[in-house]
Amino acid sequence: MSRRYRFFRKNRLANASVPAAVSAKAPVSRPPRTHVEPLTADLNRIHVTVSRSFLKKLAAARDALSHSHPGATDEEILAAGLDLLLERAAKRRGLVEKPRKTPPPAAPGSDAVPAHVSRAVWTRDEGKCQWKLDSGGICGSTYQVQLDHIIPRALGGPSTVDNLRCACRVHNVRAAREVYGDELMDHFTRRGSRPRA
Ligand SMILES: [Zn+2]
Repeated sequence: MSRRYRFFRKNRLANASVPAAVSAKAPVSRPPRTHVEPLTADLNRIHVTVSRSFLKKLAAARDALSHSHPGATDEEILAAGLDLLLERAAKRRGLVEKPRKTPPPAAPGSDAVPAHVSRAVWTRDEGKCQWKLDSGGICGSTYQVQLDHIIPRALGGPSTVDNLRCACRVHNVRAAREVYGDELMDHFTRRGSRPRA
């Protein structure tokens, strides 16, 4: 069976999905997608342009996993790395598999959202941006999603399940602009993240 992943050295493949002019000045949004070529119902080939240092890293990872994953394919090496990333992200969101039965009390004066609250919100919202669209429905983005206080913390909004929602970065900033105004928010955000009217 041919390998599912093929890596093309720089300059060997004109990266049709990422024109240089676009990638250089891309707005803050989803990065350009990798080109995926369906082969069968279950198999796909992805075309990724990678640097020399990436290939070195891949070789080093293969060596590092040579005991636990002997003879692993490139896909298996990369999948093992992705599993680690997802596990780390899940921990940050409080989505650990075995939560404590009695959640620890929040530290006095702490701004941190308690892990059990974070977990409940992420689970309820399925990690999707809950911003309501004018056209109906919700944004639903899963990219750069953060927890957003519906009544802002600065206005006394508590870090409770009811007062929190998942929101993508764009809508998180937009919500803050509606509360604090553009002038103040321009001090805290880069130009370009200001939503168009
Ligand atoms: Zn959104």
